[in-house]
Amino acid sequence: MPGPEENIKRFIRPDLLELGGYATHTSPDTMREVPPEKIIKIDANENPYGVSPGVRQALGAYKDWNIYPDASQTKLKALLEEYTGVAAENIVAANGSGEVLDEILRLLLDPGDEVINCVPTFDMYRFRTLVNRGKVTMVPRKADFGVDIPAIKGALTPRTKLIILANPNNPTGNATLPGEITDLLNTGIPALVDEAYHEFGGETVAPLVSKYPNLMVLRTFSKWAGLAGLRIGYGLLPAEIARYLMLIKLPYNVNLAAQLAVQQSLSEKDYLLENVRAIIRERDSMFAELQTLGWLEVLPSQANFIFAFLQKGNARELCLELQKKGILVRYFNQPRLQNGVRFSVGRPDQTKVLIAALNELEGSLHD
Ligand SMILES: *Cc1c(COP(=O)(O)O)cnc(C)c1O
Repeated sequence: MPGPEENIKRFIRPDLLELGGYATHTSPDTMREVPPEKIIKIDANENPYGVSPGVRQALGAYKDWNIYPDASQTKLKALLEEYTGVAAENIVAANGSGEVLDEILRLLLDPGDEVINCVPTFDMYRFRTLVNRGKVTMVPRKADFGVDIPAIKGALTPRTKLIILANPNNPTGNATLPGEITDLLNTGIPALVDEAYHEFGGETVAPLVSKYPNLMVLRTFSKWAGLAGLRIGYGLLPAEIARYLMLIKLPYNVNLAAQLAVQQSLSEKDYLLENVRAIIRERDSMFAELQTLGWLEVLPSQANFIFAFLQKGNARELCLELQKKGILVRYFNQPRLQNGVRFSVGRPDQTKVLIAALNELEGSLHD
């Protein structure tokens, strides 16, 4: 007789029984050793300056939480049109840009269809492709982590439905040239460019959305606007794709708090972009300080984080030691990223504590 657990498991998709899931960062809720106000959380590329001041006020003053949000996202799309310069009919918002990705995969993929993933990169692309019954075709990036265009073209098959590209890339921080992206678009295969860090890096292909019927761009308020906890992202998409996404999405997926926060954030855009500039300045000085330590190979970054390979010691152990001191960073052990650590760029006072801790720990690192 099978046990009760085995009994219910036979109803679950076999491919999902095997799937490992997605590795998330550490939540301070799970840490007991360090008082919460002392924790330096630089492991998930969140904004160290928080939300714009009006967001807290707007959410506090709002009364009609008992009413469903507007499923058509009309007001939200008008705001995003103004911010991006891309027409409202080309925009779909969701509960984080991760959800836009998921909706696109659901729209495009039949079981076994292929998605090109330029690795190493954000693991979400692999994870959501598998959940949506797609097949992940991994195309390794070049030695400098640039996208290998000829290799992508060589990997295309009649079942390729999508090419996904993070620009700048996470966790390596490097950008892809616009010319390389148009080169891919000219293959005619749908290409999804994830611009989660666009505000920190400058480059965007958003103006090309009206010109290429196969270009999709992902954006988010999680990083530059500090709204990671409220979950709001959007896609800039061919109008036809946007129309179908509106048809298949969960109707009330963007909650009212997130919609209000976007409206408020965009009305305080200058304040937020000043914080973005502070993060960019801090990124550049943090880069120099990490290099000066002498035992890290530090990669230049166009985003709000810096990736570095340890030249001695072990990245996982370093992470655990930093965690004991209340500093959360992310280590990587996947291929090409072995013994690597990603530091989100925080405030200058946080960098100071990080560098002091790294100096202190250096003696305990072994070759
Ligand atoms: C952080 C991040 C996002 C943001 O995802 P949300 O679901 O909008 O919070 C998207 N793409 C990449 C590459 C990221 O690093």
